[in-house]
Amino acid sequence: MKRNTWQREAVREALDAREGFVSAQGLHAGLRDAGSPIGLATVYRALADLAVEGEADSLQSPEGESLYRACSTGHHHHLICRNCGLTIEIEADAVERWAQQVASRNGFTQAQHVVDVFGLCDACSLREAPGTT
Ligand SMILES: [Zn+2]
Ligand SMILES: [Zn+2]
Ligand SMILES: [Zn+2]
Repeated sequence: MKRNTWQREAVREALDAREGFVSAQGLHAGLRDAGSPIGLATVYRALADLAVEGEADSLQSPEGESLYRACSTGHHHHLICRNCGLTIEIEADAVERWAQQVASRNGFTQAQHVVDVFGLCDACSLREAPGTT
């Protein structure tokens, strides 16, 4: 069952407008800044719904926070800046092969995997470079 409320549309549009992964709190803050009366709990629920329906990618940050992004639909991996949230979608042929091999070697079928790489993007690396404090 699809609940297409205005809140949900607002959340989806806000997510589409983002370049990288964003937390529910981050997205909520942006919506409130833009004048939306939407509540944080509603944003959480809408994001979870979008993720379940495959309209958004979700993942856990190294700090354990749930992050969301409107991604392309095919199987892919992410390179994510843990400072600014910049996200690059990457393919990883070596990872696909390795995952299949290690699964079948252990008798597993229908193997799936999640591989996301967190780091500092070019701009954030420069900003955090030693000597620039
Ligand atoms: Zn994605
Ligand atoms: Zn960055
Ligand atoms: Zn993969």
